[in-house]
Amino acid sequence: MINKNINRRGFLGATGAAAAGAVAGIPFVARAAGGKVVIVGGGVGGATTARYLKLADPKIDVTVIEPLATYHTCFMSNEVLGGDRKLDQIAVSYDGLRSMGVKVVQDMATGIDANAKTVSTKNNGKFSYDRCVVAPGISFKLPEADGISMGMFDKIPHAWKAGPQTALLRSQLEAMKDGGTVCIIAPPNPFRCPPGPYERASLIAHYLKHNKPKSKVVIVDTKDKFSKQGLFTQAWKKLYGFGTDNSMIEWIPAAKAHDVTKIMPGLVQTDFVKIDADVINYIPPQVAGKIAFDAGLTNDKGWCPVNKATFESKMHKGIHVLGDASVAAKMPKSGYAANSQGKVVAAAIWSSFAGAQAPTPSYVNTCYSIAGTDYGFSVAAVYRYNAEKDLIAGVKGAGGLTPGNASPEDLKREVQYAYSWYDNIVKDIWG
Ligand SMILES: Cc1cc2nc3c(=O)[nH]c(=O)nc-3n(C[C@H](O)[C@H](O)[C@H](O)COP(=O)(O)OP(=O)(O)OC[C@H]3O[C@@H](n4cnc5c(N)ncnc54)[C@H](O)[C@@H]3O)c2cc1C
Repeated sequence: MINKNINRRGFLGATGAAAAGAVAGIPFVARAAGGKVVIVGGGVGGATTARYLKLADPKIDVTVIEPLATYHTCFMSNEVLGGDRKLDQIAVSYDGLRSMGVKVVQDMATGIDANAKTVSTKNNGKFSYDRCVVAPGISFKLPEADGISMGMFDKIPHAWKAGPQTALLRSQLEAMKDGGTVCIIAPPNPFRCPPGPYERASLIAHYLKHNKPKSKVVIVDTKDKFSKQGLFTQAWKKLYGFGTDNSMIEWIPAAKAHDVTKIMPGLVQTDFVKIDADVINYIPPQVAGKIAFDAGLTNDKGWCPVNKATFESKMHKGIHVLGDASVAAKMPKSGYAANSQGKVVAAAIWSSFAGAQAPTPSYVNTCYSIAGTDYGFSVAAVYRYNAEKDLIAGVKGAGGLTPGNASPEDLKREVQYAYSWYDNIVKDIWG
């Protein structure tokens, strides 16, 4: 993890910018001098970009537009649902960014004019930029089915953006009787945090096991396989009796459930199954955050195509899109990926201000999952840009998956690694 106090030379070395400067023969460290950047979204991708721009050159004028005064990380929000963490332990403020000289404007961006180079906001007028960064995360693309509407989430939480939704789902779990059923409807690919729904099922089962042991979790899936499936099913067998008549977790793949046809309090219905559920967690299909559509940055699938070496939009020059909203294959839509991409974007923008070529980046991702007490596992990858295939391709031999025969000590250590990863990355993003 890169240290909070990393200096400019360290940052450029870490992102490859120093190497690119050497190739181009440009002493561009001396040439960087300010520039104006407006960042839409102060979540993982936006905040990382802001912070690393300021680390690269404090003279760069950085404004972050973000409606939330307090951001709640989705990472570790499943632990809040499982009762092992409180909501305020996943809350972050913008004081760290402000202390570095980043202007944080609490507002909603309503439009981006790529020709005039301005971002419009709901309450604070227009902001002009030399470079714009768009990191709005996801929005939901609701299917047409009985009971499904944006209004449903007051009673049937998605909890896929952490904060009040997490608190609502947790309060429903607490209020549920012993012997109740929790139904999680898992979304189709691609979506934010591929292992997330299955970690959630695990940690809800963990809570039920210790508090309401006659209860169960049913996952109605819109897919036939999922991320880290082997490791999750192994954990579920070990911890929750998966595969037995008394299993606390049941997984219904798409082949057996087919399409969701109705969701209302107490009931989930698909073409093939009907589940009476005491608590329902509907995680809908996803696309890029709304502002990306309004700004004309999306493709016909609802995600934002970018040059993967700089994350500059393929739709509009001068605008970089990163994080969940971007098409960054083969990186997953994860917080660690958005953090890594934020550093790449900062280096690319800094280089453009310096009149230098953007460096050839490398990227990194690790996703930890916690399945229960002292039981964690992870998948890690290092990537490099492959221009020929226009892919962020995994580097062979780097990274890997927790082995299926990991010892109890190793699984326990993975939980500790996950906790220290959390503390480090939150500092790295928001300061
Ligand atoms: C349950 C769960 C568990 C997860 N666990 C992990 C994990 O263990 N590890 C991991 O790496 N990742 C994890 N993730 C994924 C991670 O949270 C996301 O991938 C990450 O937050 C994406 O960053 P982002 O910057 O694209 O979006 P976000 O972090 O969501 O930030 C987007 C920001 O943009 C703001 N915004 C939106 N529209 C506008 C607008 N018009 N104007 C201004 N601001 C706007 C939003 O308010 C928000 O603050 C998890 C996700 C979930 C749901």
